[in-house]
Amino acid sequence: MDIHEYQAKDLLGQFGVESPPGALAYSPEQAAYRTRELGGDRWVVKAQVHAGGRGKAGGVKVCASDTEIQIACKEMFGKKIVTHQTGSEGKGIYRVYVESAVAIKTEFYLGLVLDRSSQRVMIVCSKEGGMEIEEIAAEQPESIIRASVEPAVGLREFQCRDIAFELGLEGNVVQNFVRTLSACYRAFRDLDATMVEINPLVLTENGRILALDAKMTFDDNALFRHSQISELRDKSQEDPRECRAADRGLNYVGLDGNIGCIVNGAGLAMATMDTIKHAGGEPANFLDIGGGATPERVAKAFRLVMSDDKVEAVLVNIFAGINRCDWVAEGVVQALTENPVSVPVVVRLSGTNVEEGNKILAASELPVIMASSLSEAATSVVEAWRSHLTNGSLTRAVQ
Ligand code: GDP
Ligand code: MN
Repeated sequence: MDIHEYQAKDLLGQFGVESPPGALAYSPEQAAYRTRELGGDRWVVKAQVHAGGRGKAGGVKVCASDTEIQIACKEMFGKKIVTHQTGSEGKGIYRVYVESAVAIKTEFYLGLVLDRSSQRVMIVCSKEGGMEIEEIAAEQPESIIRASVEPAVGLREFQCRDIAFELGLEGNVVQNFVRTLSACYRAFRDLDATMVEINPLVLTENGRILALDAKMTFDDNALFRHSQISELRDKSQEDPRECRAADRGLNYVGLDGNIGCIVNGAGLAMATMDTIKHAGGEPANFLDIGGGATPERVAKAFRLVMSDDKVEAVLVNIFAGINRCDWVAEGVVQALTENPVSVPVVVRLSGTNVEEGNKILAASELPVIMASSLSEAATSVVEAWRSHLTNGSLTRAVQ
């Protein structure tokens, strides 16, 4: 799960990471009066979206008056911002963060990530702050400093000092940097983060180390033990299809293709997507309905897949062990009876109660195309989708 910059700054602040004074606003008027509360004479208005690259896309504006703040806000609120991290759809701006502007001496990059290959927390730093890490890696790879944390002992002070020296820091600033980096590590560890990124981390003219930007990502599987973080979830920033799935307890990942997939088991779901691609189609989603799925759950999964406008054919592929093919068939019948669809539906059932399942589908007289193997199912769904595209209209009765 991702959170907003202002939320990350607040959390990191609780561990000792300093950032400029700031305030959140939900409207241009609120931004203006919250800025007056902050005081000072230069501020930065920052669009709060779950994506980086806002600076270049007009989501970060330095302002020197009330009027400038309001103008900057009006250009942001209610608009979508498109950056290389948002996808082409962009992300809606519904909150802005106003912050006192800072006189920057040097900008650094600081990131902590979970490195799965070494199974450790990896610290990544560079003097080339402000640029995205991908750009730094492409253009200035020699500037990247890496350190990994031994889990049994945690991040050691000498490691932080070494990094500070490599970044060219001196005097009291070294201690400030050590404090900041240690705080980031503690926040990462204690809150079950998978990523903390401060870009830029800046050295100010008066020797302070401040986080001007902050991003944090958390391990979804650990959220149950951090209710204060679960509460920070902002559904307006998430893929609406994935949101609906999460609310229904389904494992769903939206993709760009047009063949909707309803499968049980993550492994079979991946194999199904591969086989669809092999047959010349593009999957619209990954969906694992899990074990012991009731007809209601299957029907829910079906409605979820059909709520994606891009879906032009559906493949249901079930290899039932714990699941029961008759329940799956009932779920498909229930979904198609309540909300008839005009796109082709291919069903392949195998395993527990397969005969009953096939009988239920046959007796329903619904226009379901049956298949007996995965490859046959994938070929059928792609063929049905192609002929449907050429013959039939793609208006659908379902939502
Ligand atoms: P991002 O583009 O989404 O990563 O947004 P950032 O928060 O990193 O802001 C983009 C850039 O705006 C930063 O790299 C800074 O150079 C600049 N910026 C942000 N806040 C300030 C500030 O307080 N003072 C100054 N001078 N520049 C700032
Ligand atoms: Mn940034």
